[in-house]
Amino acid sequence: MTNSNHSATGRGVTIWLTGLSGAGKSTIADRLAEYLRRAGKRVEVLDGDVVRTNLSKGLGFSKEDRDTNIRRIGFVGKLLTRNGVTTIVAAISPYRDVRDEVRRDIGDFVEVYVHCPLEELSRRDVKGLYAKAMRGEIPNFTGVSDPYEEPLHPEVMVSTDRETPDESVGKVIAKLEELRYLEPKKAPAAARR
Ligand code: ADP
Repeated sequence: MTNSNHSATGRGVTIWLTGLSGAGKSTIADRLAEYLRRAGKRVEVLDGDVVRTNLSKGLGFSKEDRDTNIRRIGFVGKLLTRNGVTTIVAAISPYRDVRDEVRRDIGDFVEVYVHCPLEELSRRDVKGLYAKAMRGEIPNFTGVSDPYEEPLHPEVMVSTDRETPDESVGKVIAKLEELRYLEPKKAPAAARR
């Protein structure tokens, strides 16, 4: 069986977006997917909210269940990545040890820390969850009543309280180019010779 991680569409990679609810993971994932498809890549998005309605249906929010959810996403990411697919994961993934475990397992792995301060998240309150969580009505709500372990060495960090979505996506694209997962759109004159 051939492993096609060096096909015409390029090497596969998993781009793993981690961060609190409402920080901007899905927004960045969708825009990045659109950009990469236009650039000729085969792309899949594994969105935490969607995964929890099928692959991880029935799992809750204990550390054990969260770890199981992340390992399942990591397993699918590995299969896709080794077949040359650019896989974008958008999942809170609050625990560092399991993120690092899937990183080791997948190999071609770019971790993006989607950062936004709690103050701004509760101002945005995209899904109305922060108000509830802060009233103590949601147990195990990451960042409020459940831990979030920040990445120590993410390949990319975006600060969505200070950047537009396009700026944040641009940072990820620049890193993919630097790591040669993506052809630079325009090589600088000196590099073209
Ligand atoms: P998550 O997937 O992390 O739960 P969402 O993508 O659903 O978060 O929501 C993020 C919200 O923040 C959206 O309303 C989006 O328009 C807004 N936003 C503002 N700045 C940014 C940015 N730089 N990147 C991503 N989203 C941003």
